Amino acid sequence: MSAMKPKIAFFDFASCEGCQLALLNCEDVLLELLEHVELVEFREAMSEKAPRYDIAFIEGSIHREEDVERLHDVRARTRYLVALGACADTGNVQARANAVAPAVNFQRVYGEEARNSVQADGNYWPLWAHTRVRAVHEVVAVDYTLRGCPMVAEEFLRLVKALISGQIPRFPANAVCVECKKNGNECVYDRGLACLGPIAYGGCDSVCINGGHVCDGCRGLLPYANVDAHRDLLRSMGIGDRAILHRYSLHCSSDARLKGSAQ
Ligand code: SF4
Ligand code: SF4
Ligand code: SF4
Repeated sequence: MSAMKPKIAFFDFASCEGCQLALLNCEDVLLELLEHVELVEFREAMSEKAPRYDIAFIEGSIHREEDVERLHDVRARTRYLVALGACADTGNVQARANAVAPAVNFQRVYGEEARNSVQADGNYWPLWAHTRVRAVHEVVAVDYTLRGCPMVAEEFLRLVKALISGQIPRFPANAVCVECKKNGNECVYDRGLACLGPIAYGGCDSVCINGGHVCDGCRGLLPYANVDAHRDLLRSMGIGDRAILHRYSLHCSSDARLKGSAQ
């Protein structure tokens, strides 16, 4: 990385901008970080633009062709490109739209009459007629991923510190169960509830279970996840295939290992 302060930039696509807000919320460490990097683009906090960056953070999933072009442009201007959060990493909740034809989606939201009119509108329909919601890695090469909905600010800081000091950042592929056990939580399966912790990437400090909820796998499925065994476990609890698929696809519908599951 250059001897000058590395330039970092943020770009948002289809998202709730919660990952950027999660970052802005850690004001104390952010100020310390800004002593070591130069923030050159960040729509949430500034209006300046820059021609090149050392690290570009991409928040959001990719829908329209103009977004694809913009993403390619960012890729060409940056040394490292980081997918920031589940929308960028997996397509997140919005990737569920891929299972439904655009016209059907529109009809469900706005009704039959509106669907017919929008399809006849040459200016408006193309906004809806995209064929797929894409994760960032489906469009351009991604160097690093910060998982989660939202991303974990501590992981963001670890990644930036590693990159600016020339190290390779590593995020171990442990299941959420590992952190859950370390935190001394009672397993929700003992209460008859289903949890995606055994097949989902940890790194979130099992925050949902700590707070009395279950894990819905917002950090994506582990590379070694035994989805078949997990599905059998849920079936043994009386959960039907359709409900299981709904549960898996909340955050992970773009994962190829879920293809072929009952729809
Ligand atoms: S990953 Fe979650 S918090 Fe981050 S932008 Fe997407 S929906 Fe919002
Ligand atoms: S509650 Fe979920 S994450 Fe925790 S140990 Fe049980 S299955 Fe694993
Ligand atoms: S416990 Fe599961 S749903 Fe909650 S933050 Fe961690 S991976 Fe995401």
